[in-house]
Amino acid sequence: MTWDVEKIREDFPVLSQTVNGKPLVYLDNAASAQMPRPVIERMSAYQSAEHSNIHRGVHYLSQHATTAYEAAREKVKRFINAPDVNCCIFVRGCTEGINLVADSYGKGFIGEGDEILVSQMEHHSNIVPWQVTAEERGAKVVVIPMNERGELIVEEYERLLNQRTKIVALSHVSNSLGTINPVKEMIAAAHKLGVPVCVDAAQSVPHFPVDVQDLDADFFVFSGHKMFGPTGSGIVYGKREWLDKMPPYQTGGSQIRIVSFERTTYAPLPAKFEAGTPAIAAGIGLGAAIDYINGLDFVAAAEHEHQLLEYATERLADIPEVTIIGTAAHKASVLSFTIDGIHPHDIGTILDQEGIAIRAGHHCAQPVMQFYDVPATARASFAFYNTRDEVEQLADAVQKVIEVFA
Ligand code: PLP
Repeated sequence: MTWDVEKIREDFPVLSQTVNGKPLVYLDNAASAQMPRPVIERMSAYQSAEHSNIHRGVHYLSQHATTAYEAAREKVKRFINAPDVNCCIFVRGCTEGINLVADSYGKGFIGEGDEILVSQMEHHSNIVPWQVTAEERGAKVVVIPMNERGELIVEEYERLLNQRTKIVALSHVSNSLGTINPVKEMIAAAHKLGVPVCVDAAQSVPHFPVDVQDLDADFFVFSGHKMFGPTGSGIVYGKREWLDKMPPYQTGGSQIRIVSFERTTYAPLPAKFEAGTPAIAAGIGLGAAIDYINGLDFVAAAEHEHQLLEYATERLADIPEVTIIGTAAHKASVLSFTIDGIHPHDIGTILDQEGIAIRAGHHCAQPVMQFYDVPATARASFAFYNTRDEVEQLADAVQKVIEVFA
């Protein structure tokens, strides 16, 4: 494997700064990854010379912007191996995307007494929209449990699937534990009963190659800003057989065919789900992020990142005061931990003084915190531009935190 991490880091201008007098060690990638120069430059070029509203203009700039935006959609299609570019819907991010699926699929297919299966390790964005749908439709949210390592109990899941189940909502990778869920097998189990699965891919697309056709995912939702693209970009991929039958999520301009005061008809996919002026620069930026990833050896990147996660796990596990939260056999990027007697916010604050950016809190996964009976965890999350040296600095700083509180 050849992964020249120092060369890769040159692409990310934000990484070369100092914070509190120390070189920045950026380990908050699960919250938001950094953008490489080609993404920043592409967005800047768009804003400087190409900006115009898309889809409806006959003039040069509008057509140019439309072409760039639709080219980004085509890149998304290839990136996730979607069968149809029109089944890739631009949204503002994963949260908006899951709200779209929960609301629209709910209105179309969920009724009184139905069940929505949601796993115990979901981000709030993949819990609350389903709770709202359940409330509105008279349905029930049923929880797929996990074990102490933070792995879903697949046998329990298979037992919970039944004729009342109308959809399964599942993260590909947990943002609070790092667990990689066996989504392909879980999708296959749901499909045996004709139940569709909505995969929250926010934490998988930045870390390894994905293929929605191989997974046979019915819905696949993610954010651009976690995969080295801009905020304000995200994607809902859905199978046409569902999207065509689902009602629009938001309505208004761009998503209609004919409007009269008596009746409105809607545009075909993807426009039906894209009401109003989208975040054009963000969509084009997401396309540039995909170009950037495609230019890497993404498999080598994933391998490098995995080695960092393993090394960091080893280093922190060696510190007696540290408890690692989430010890699944298959993990990506995320290392959550607590230190005996020290609040995670204090860990985060002291690490920040060392120039190390981690996240401390419930990570929008309060049910996970309840499961482990902790108020919060400290979370380091890695990307392919992190280094072994940064892991050393993290481990040394954690030791320092313990000394400060001793
Ligand atoms: N799902 C998971 C697993 C996440 O980690 C996140 C963000 O942390 C989200 C959903 C929500 O993403 P966004 O805030 O970009 O909408």
